[in-house]
Amino acid sequence: MKIDVLGVSFDNVTMDDAVRLGMELLDSPGADTVVTPNPEIVMACRKDPELMSAVNSASLVLPDGIGVIYGAKILGTPLSEKVPGADWAERMFCEMAKFGKSVYFLGAKPGVAEAAAENMSKKYPGLVIAGTHDGYFNDDGSVAEAINDASPDLLLVCLGSPKQEKWMSANKGGLNVRLMAGLGGSLDVYAGTVQRAPESWRRLNLEWLYRLMKQPSRLGRMLKLPWFLIVVVWKRIFRK
Ligand code: UDP
Repeated sequence: MKIDVLGVSFDNVTMDDAVRLGMELLDSPGADTVVTPNPEIVMACRKDPELMSAVNSASLVLPDGIGVIYGAKILGTPLSEKVPGADWAERMFCEMAKFGKSVYFLGAKPGVAEAAAENMSKKYPGLVIAGTHDGYFNDDGSVAEAINDASPDLLLVCLGSPKQEKWMSANKGGLNVRLMAGLGGSLDVYAGTVQRAPESWRRLNLEWLYRLMKQPSRLGRMLKLPWFLIVVVWKRIFRK
């Protein structure tokens, strides 16, 4: 079932559902896409029809973060739970490892995808790393060729938003992959170059505060969250 939050159609799924559906998509032909919008991306979609269309045409639209969950609740159409993209992908790796499925890491600064690959292959023995490529390139064609040569089951596209959603939408016709997911800074997390909030902070839904403390330069981006909530409340009151 889909739930509309300011124009973005989220899948109303739990983490377990999202992993099961992801695994099903790995076995279905064609390159499906997964996107993980947070409030910042939802707000960007409202101003950018190309981004909105790339997001809403994905096979799975997962609510990344507590802001979207609050937004859906305020609108009177609650979503089951938050499904952070980095956690979803790790759950996928765990399942994929059981079947010897492969993943390709595209994105982040040179060296990061390789470090992420090393860490994830140690953590999930059986997971096949089909290849890696950094996220700072000009020629889509040669990157698509490298991915097709590796023909992974899953492709992580970690180029930041809106670049990753638009890149997936533009390139999916020419890619020999089963599933691709736009996952922002996840490779930095897997590589250990960015620390995620400790579990206790995450349980209290304070991951955003931890990130802000570690990277104060994100303040401008994070101010989109209160603005998102104001627009949601406005919608709820005036039903516009
Ligand atoms: N990035 C990239 N190519 C670019 C711009 C960004 O690979 O042209 C990477 C960047 O190095 C970082 C990720 O995209 O690893 C974006 O991280 P951010 O923290 O902004 O994403 P979030 O997790 O907040 O969505």
